[in-house]
Amino acid sequence: MAAQKNPGDDSAVNPLYDALIVGGGLAGLSLACLLGARGMKIGCIDRMAPDNTAPQDLRTTAISYGSRKILERAGIWAEITQSCPIEDIRILDGASPVLLQFLHTEVEGQAFGWIVNNSDLKRAMMKRLGTLPGVQHIAPARVADFEIQSGEGPKSAFVILDDGRRFGADLIIGADGRESFTRKWMDVPVRRWRYDQQAVICTVAHENAHQNTAIEHFWPQGPFAVLPMADGPEGQHRSSVVFTEHKHGQKSWMTLSDSDFEIALAARFPAYYGDVRMIGPRAAFPLSLVHAAEYIRPRMVLVADAAHGIHPIAGQGLNLGFRDLDTLDRLVGEAFSAGEDIGSLALLETYQRRRRPDNMAMVAVTDGLVRLFSTAFPPAALLRRVGLRVVAKLGPARRFFMKQAMGDR
Ligand SMILES: Cc1cc2nc3c(=O)[nH]c(=O)nc-3n(C[C@H](O)[C@H](O)[C@H](O)COP(=O)(O)OP(=O)(O)OC[C@H]3O[C@@H](n4cnc5c(N)ncnc54)[C@H](O)[C@@H]3O)c2cc1C
Repeated sequence: MAAQKNPGDDSAVNPLYDALIVGGGLAGLSLACLLGARGMKIGCIDRMAPDNTAPQDLRTTAISYGSRKILERAGIWAEITQSCPIEDIRILDGASPVLLQFLHTEVEGQAFGWIVNNSDLKRAMMKRLGTLPGVQHIAPARVADFEIQSGEGPKSAFVILDDGRRFGADLIIGADGRESFTRKWMDVPVRRWRYDQQAVICTVAHENAHQNTAIEHFWPQGPFAVLPMADGPEGQHRSSVVFTEHKHGQKSWMTLSDSDFEIALAARFPAYYGDVRMIGPRAAFPLSLVHAAEYIRPRMVLVADAAHGIHPIAGQGLNLGFRDLDTLDRLVGEAFSAGEDIGSLALLETYQRRRRPDNMAMVAVTDGLVRLFSTAFPPAALLRRVGLRVVAKLGPARRFFMKQAMGDR
């Protein structure tokens, strides 16, 4: 909606936007590209300078087939320089010989997803953002307060920065991560707990090619995932490792020396990878679950991790967030082109109604998987093995899991 010039208009000091996005992480930047491509005036505010490296930039993300389609629509996918398809998935449970495999040959040769470096994703998003004249990346800038003028029409929601700057919009979108300041300000009740676990991540080079295969191996000490990456600049074969270690009663891999860490890593890798060596630093991320009971308030809405932060056991956190962005972008886009209020309560309620059931289901599934695969308690371990055997043998169950992994709705 174009800014109206009224008598006493202070838009020179308080710039006006169609929508303001709080948080320029992978979700906030993607949404800025989606909405910006519609010709909207968007401000995307982040407390970090664009060239700053955050710990999460060292990670990789498994982008599902469904998320890739959204990134294509946002004009971001074309800017990604390196991605590796996940063609096959192997799931193992401890020393059990039962192997659950999902093969691309079972899904008409399609990839289940793609592994992309978070730093590459962010770079591609910033590049795309630079081509959209209506989008402004406001960073570094910390959001410190909001003002919602009740009963008013469009342009009655304000974001206030800690340096005193004040921006107005029709709609404020909280994409500020699982500790979301926006969510706290909205005073939304949350369901949350900490898992007694942390994800230790690093990148490794290995002697032999990974054949575009992802491995999830459930050990009593925690799930160990190996995700195939594109070959390095000198042709070295690379994979990304995510070891979800249980904290109780064991020494953290973060406390090991580099050489002991490499020995521990190599012991977890299947022999066919050959020699394995660490390239780049390791980092640890404490794991928790958080789900907002409501996503909306007048002229305010939550998306992605600000609405739901889940365990990375199934690599679905951002993929789920992309589904929020897709839904919100389509609703806002339709209202914008019809000249309607993009921050109306009716629109926000439709968004919440469409997104909460899907998010709740994924929260429940990932939490259930974490509990099932985090225990050595014999009945649970038996259930897990029977479950893997059933899924391995049963066509409809296999197809269900493959569809979920691909994230194609
Ligand atoms: C180990 C691990 C592996 C994972 N692997 C996968 C995977 O393979 N696939 C997948 O789909 N998901 C995965 N995830 C989940 C995924 O990383 C997250 O869902 C995703 O990064 C969330 O993005 P976001 O933009 O919503 O939040 P964030 O990345 O947390 O971004 C929030 C942004 O808001 C900014 N911000 C916060 N407060 C303010 C403020 N007051 N003012 C201004 N700016 C502010 C921050 O600086 C930050 O840039 C993984 C997670 C972990 C921990």
